[in-house]
Amino acid sequence: MRSDISGFYKLPVERRLRILRERAGLSKSDIKTLAHNSALLHETADMMIENVVGTIQLPIGIATHFKINGVDKFVPMAIEESSVVAAASYAAKLARPEGFKASSDEPLMIGQIQLKSIKNMEKAKKDIVRRFEELKSIANGRESVLVKLGGGLKGIELRELDTDRGKMLIVHLLIDVRDAMGANAVNTYCEEIAPYLEELTGGKSVLKIISNLAARRIVRARAVWKKNDLGKETIDRILDAYAFAKADPYRAATHNKGVMNAIDAVMIATCNDWRAAEAGAHAYAALNGYKPLTAYEKNKNGDLAGKIELPLAVGLVGGATRMHPVAQVALKILDVNSARDLAEVVACVGLANNFAALRAMVKEGIRQGHMKLHATNIAHMAGAKEEEIALVAKRLVEEGNISYSRARQAVKQVRYDIRKKKIKKLIRSVRQRVQHKTERKN
Ligand code: NAD
Repeated sequence: MRSDISGFYKLPVERRLRILRERAGLSKSDIKTLAHNSALLHETADMMIENVVGTIQLPIGIATHFKINGVDKFVPMAIEESSVVAAASYAAKLARPEGFKASSDEPLMIGQIQLKSIKNMEKAKKDIVRRFEELKSIANGRESVLVKLGGGLKGIELRELDTDRGKMLIVHLLIDVRDAMGANAVNTYCEEIAPYLEELTGGKSVLKIISNLAARRIVRARAVWKKNDLGKETIDRILDAYAFAKADPYRAATHNKGVMNAIDAVMIATCNDWRAAEAGAHAYAALNGYKPLTAYEKNKNGDLAGKIELPLAVGLVGGATRMHPVAQVALKILDVNSARDLAEVVACVGLANNFAALRAMVKEGIRQGHMKLHATNIAHMAGAKEEEIALVAKRLVEEGNISYSRARQAVKQVRYDIRKKKIKKLIRSVRQRVQHKTERKN
């Protein structure tokens, strides 16, 4: 399967769906699910959250040109912001033929058990370490799908914290969650192990909960963008922009927002917990003072080498992923075999988007490349309806002034023009009818 399709963006939606069906091996019913307006039935939605009254739709776009660890991939992205899908595809196109290389840690999540009122901290710590194998066999001994699949409790970390309310011992359970995001699984482990730890340490447990700083589940990806494609000056300017982000948290926040634009979009398309990804990514970025999640340098050939590193807790099972029909089709399009595979794709898309945003900012500016979609959004915001939207957007792009105030004026002008055209057409047709009648009389 090849994902490098030129001009995908120019095709009508039906044609794009046909290509997807042929290349990603989707069934007729998958296509129906994607194209259907209410794929998520109210009955299903009602099983997902409380007090359901409806569902909300988002566009799903396909990022093309991705090649990850030598394999071509289509990447479904669900997002309301224009330019993100185009940016990802463009960066992936420029990264070919080599594409992206990605790797990931085992899917180890951290569960935290907070213990207070421990009288002898040193003894408590020693006892936990000494009795770890016993704790492990208790935790993994119960009937558990996770353990059968090779997951379960794998290790332990102890951290002593000096807090406003005294010394606390924080026990980290390192749990391999296999192909799950893992929050429910980890929380269950924490709740089950806490009473044993209380008994062992004489302490009292307070919180028993997953940490979203999934620092043991790191994903890494890298790609090289060639000097011949970018030009030396653009590479230097991207390195300047990266240096700025490294030195300034105000800039780093926006830099990382660009990364998360893409990451969240894939997380949402697959119904994964994107809040968990956000929390984890930003906490990781802030571990040693808030920093960019990506890094860039010039390699020995003068090309731009980019990389990304972040924690990603994604799942193929559990949560809403299995329940949402569109998420199931999205996973089929992604053609991934494990949560690690999915996390690697997600990281590559994050790097791609960040690179594309930097390139655009140091060259034509972030709005220039995707003026048409931006203008369409602004036209819609300014009150344009149906056929007016395209006409207003066209005017704004031609004038190079994509502003809300100009769009409001343009809506009025376009409406006036449309009305004038309609009146002219009406007069013409009345004239023709009169002429026709007169000719028949004669
Ligand atoms: P889950 O409990 O729905 O599913 C995981 C379970 O699926 C495993 O325990 C296992 O029994 C089973 N399973 C079957 N096949 C598996 C496989 N191949 N690999 C792994 N497990 C397999 O889901 P979860 O992933 O434990 O929890 C995710 C949900 O928890 C998400 O909806 C998330 O939003 C929510 N959540 C998040 C937080 C947080 O991030 N702080 C807190 C609470 C809940």
